[in-house]
Amino acid sequence: METSSENCSVKVALHIRPLISDEKQQGCTQCVSVYPGKPQVQIGSHSFTFDHVYGNGGSPSSKMFEECVAPLVDGLFQGYNATVLAYGQTGSGKTYTMGTAYNDNSGIGLIPQVMNALFNKIETLKHQTEFQLHVSFIEILKEEVRDLLDMVSMGKSDNSSSNGHSGKVTIPGKSPIQIRESSSGVITLAGSTEVSVSTLQEMAAYLEQGSLNRATGSTNMNNQSSRSHAIFTITLEQMRKLHSFSPSNDTSDEDMGEEYLSAKLHLVDLAGSERAKRTGSDGIRLKEGIHINRGLLALGNVISALGDEKKRKEGVHVPYRDSKLTRLLQDSLGGNSRTVMIACISPADINAEETLNTLKYANRAR
Ligand code: ADP
Ligand code: MG
Repeated sequence: METSSENCSVKVALHIRPLISDEKQQGCTQCVSVYPGKPQVQIGSHSFTFDHVYGNGGSPSSKMFEECVAPLVDGLFQGYNATVLAYGQTGSGKTYTMGTAYNDNSGIGLIPQVMNALFNKIETLKHQTEFQLHVSFIEILKEEVRDLLDMVSMGKSDNSSSNGHSGKVTIPGKSPIQIRESSSGVITLAGSTEVSVSTLQEMAAYLEQGSLNRATGSTNMNNQSSRSHAIFTITLEQMRKLHSFSPSNDTSDEDMGEEYLSAKLHLVDLAGSERAKRTGSDGIRLKEGIHINRGLLALGNVISALGDEKKRKEGVHVPYRDSKLTRLLQDSLGGNSRTVMIACISPADINAEETLNTLKYANRAR
C-alpha cells in the first residue's frame, strides 16, 4: 500500500555524476551501469536497488528535487522536520548536488531549489498565515561544531567600526557551540548564530557567505571542507489565525485563537566518506579521519536502526548520541520527520572501490 512507503522514514536516492574531464584525461571508463527503467545499478557482480537513481548523462536536477525534496518542503508547512543528506567520497558530487558552494555556477543544486519552492509557497499562503524564517549554517569538524555565520557577523562589524569596539571577535573554530535537548525532545544549538531572513536573496546571501567561510577556513589545512559535515538549516515558523464561521451571524468569523507550527529542514553536505588513507606523517590528519568516521558511522547505525521495522517495534536503541552529527539531527531523523539520503558516486573505474563502499552504505540505509 502507498501509505507504507510514505511511512518509511528514510528514502535513499543514488546520484551518478558524469565522468569529469580529469577522469577522462586519465582514460577512465565507466564501471557503473543502470538497469533501464529501474532504480537499480550494477557494479561488477554486485547490483543494488534504491528508491530513485539519477544521473549518468540524463535526469536534470529538477527531477531529483521534485521527487525527493519537494515533499519535504511541503511537510515543513505541516510542521514536519526533515533532513536531506548528501553522502559519498570526496569528488563524487555532494556539494554540486546540494548546491552548498556558491562559486559553483555549473548547475542548480538542491538548496537553491528548496529556497525557490519555500518562498513561492509562502507567497501563496501569506494572506492567511504569518511566517518567520531563520537560517543557521554550521560545520562539524573533528567532533566540534563551528558556526559558519558567526564569522560573517564578525566581518561585518569589523568593517563598520574602526575604534576596536567591534563586538565579538570570533576565531574560526573557537565558539563553543553546544547541542542541547529540551524536555520535549527539541534539539537546539546553543551559541550558534540563527539569523532571521525575509527574502530569498537574503537567504541566498547567508548560504553564500557561510560557504565562503567554510572554504576560507580550510585553506591552511589540506582541503578540510571535505573532512567536515556542513549543515544548512532552515527553520519555518507559522502563526495561523483560526476562525469559526457561524451562519447565524453576519459578521461571520469569530476569532478562535491562533495555531503555531515550527519545523526545520537540515540540508547536509556530509564529509567525504573515503577511508583516511594518507594519514602517515602528521598525526593531525589521522585524528580527523577517526572523527569523521565517527559521524558517518553513527549516521549509518542510526539510519539502519530507523529503517529496520522489526528492530523499531522491539524498541531497539537508536544510537543518536554516538556523534555530534547524529545528536544534532536527532529530532529530524526518524519519528515523524522525513529523511532523504542522496548517495553520490563517480562512475569512473578508478573510483570503483569507494563507489562500492558508498553503494553498500546507502543500501544499508534502506
Ligand atoms: P564533493 O563535494 O563530493 O567533493 P563536488 O560536488 O565538488 O564533489 O564535485 C566534484 C567535481 O565533479 C566538481 O568539479 C563538480 O563540478 C563535478 N560534478 C559533480 N556533479 C556533477 C554533475 N552532476 N554534472 C557535472 N559535473 C559534476
Ligand atoms: Mg564538497
